[in-house]
Amino acid sequence: MQWSRLFIPTLREDPAEAEVPSHRLLLRAGYIRQLAAGIYSYLFLAQRSLLKIIRIVREEMDAIGGQEMLLPALHPAEIWRESGRWEVMGDNMFRLKDRWQHDLCLGMTHEEVMTAVARGELRSYKQLPQIWYQIQTKFRDEPRPKSGLLRVRQFLMKDSYSFDLDAAGLDAAYEKHYQAYCRIFDRCGLKYTAVEAHSGAMGGSQSHEFMVATEAGEDYVVSCPACGYAANLEKAETVASPPLAPDPEGDLAPEKFHTPGRKTIAEVADFTGLPETSQMKSLVMVADGTLMLVLVRGDHALSETKFAGITGASEIRPAHPDEIRATFGADAGSLGPVGLRGIRILADLALKGRRNMIAGANEDDYHLRHVTPGEDFTPEYHDLRQAAPGDACIRCGRPVRLDKSVEIGHIFKLGYKYSESMGLRVLNADGKEVTPIMGSYGIGIERILCAAVESYHDQDGMALPASIAPFEVIITPVNTAEPVHMDAAARLYQACRSLGIDVLLDDRDERPGVKFKDADLIGVPYRITAGKKLAQGKVEIYDRRTRAVTEVSVEEAPQRLHELLTAARGQPVSAF
Ligand SMILES: [Zn+2]
Repeated sequence: MQWSRLFIPTLREDPAEAEVPSHRLLLRAGYIRQLAAGIYSYLFLAQRSLLKIIRIVREEMDAIGGQEMLLPALHPAEIWRESGRWEVMGDNMFRLKDRWQHDLCLGMTHEEVMTAVARGELRSYKQLPQIWYQIQTKFRDEPRPKSGLLRVRQFLMKDSYSFDLDAAGLDAAYEKHYQAYCRIFDRCGLKYTAVEAHSGAMGGSQSHEFMVATEAGEDYVVSCPACGYAANLEKAETVASPPLAPDPEGDLAPEKFHTPGRKTIAEVADFTGLPETSQMKSLVMVADGTLMLVLVRGDHALSETKFAGITGASEIRPAHPDEIRATFGADAGSLGPVGLRGIRILADLALKGRRNMIAGANEDDYHLRHVTPGEDFTPEYHDLRQAAPGDACIRCGRPVRLDKSVEIGHIFKLGYKYSESMGLRVLNADGKEVTPIMGSYGIGIERILCAAVESYHDQDGMALPASIAPFEVIITPVNTAEPVHMDAAARLYQACRSLGIDVLLDDRDERPGVKFKDADLIGVPYRITAGKKLAQGKVEIYDRRTRAVTEVSVEEAPQRLHELLTAARGQPVSAF
């Protein structure tokens, strides 16, 4: 293709609204334009890149026996009510009514629709296993859409679903997906980690997230460089750092003291002169309608995911201020476990064995000192907190690290949640009705592009992996008024094309500096510069990522690029 005929609206300046590199560069390089908050148009270059990503995803899904389908984005409420998720999804779901006042929604995921297809068609164990997938637009009403394509309200996903007769079958489908995901992300040129995750609103038993470490990410991965343990923040189990001050010794009775206007952990720490680790943080949560008190160390945060897992609740939320007032007789900021009746108290493991700590007194503007768990109140101990910097590895005791990351893929063992609730049954070999077991598996298509930009960019633009860049090679004749430059460029262009190279000819009548800058910005991995060196029969091959320049003869250049790209395109697809 010839650049002079293409629509590539690059910007000279950084767009003011962009917060993260991928957002800034995708806008500047003319890949995307925003239509509304969290809603983007993908222009020519983005679409080329996304189609390459989709092709890789498709090849690897087909290689594990996946069958591609395309399901509706518009769903009737009924199937979501059957699974129980019409309520659970809350405000994250785009809901609408049709002209007959029927409830509908825009699909944010497709477990319900896939299960509805399966229960209508699958009759016998002989039809199992199945892996069905689609590449389709999803919708999520994000409360705070931001960071360009990283947190959006409309996005592309590959989602697949496995149906098996038993748990061993699901294990096999899960493992196939795990391996396929590794091949997909490898071929897309990403450095990623597969971490243990919690299945959250999806239900089910086992789950892994595929994460790319980047400052732009909003998720945290907790990992141990020493032993390789890795998990997401909500799921990670670690050993808490020791408290910053020793607990007072002795069998001291709780003692009320006045803390006027001191509501937060930090304010009470400042007021008492004792570190945050000397306090218990009281959080009031509601799990499936039941109010509970959750205690963590002052400097720790509650993992709502762990809390949900421990209570087994399908819906959890912080209590409202009026609920807190009615139960405790005080407002948040003065709450504590002492003297409570008829309320389940859950305490984090880091509070076990502690003595004489500070907690709220359940009276506004008062706290208690000398509160000892197990003596002054009786909690259930669980691992309830989020991992924090300074924690030690649960496996080997060495320090863990926390890295900001972007999630690019997620796989779940769903179990029987959807097949059971939606009535999917098949006959087994004995002619008995049984419920198939399911898995679901997602990949964020734009997330792959974003993660690649976040991973590979510099001050001049993107340096995309060859497998997903909109073009593999750009040929730049230095002076378009010079027939020698233009002829050589045209010959190189044809030679590259005949070798199957995806090549762009920058035939614009612009200064070379402008053309080089644009090529650097849009992220094409290799550039051939056809200029003065042609007098000696030579051109330059420029590597966008390393900025290394190699001189080769005009005749040799296409073959050299072909070799470089063959190495960069990644592994061939395994045969199914
Ligand atoms: Zn470790």
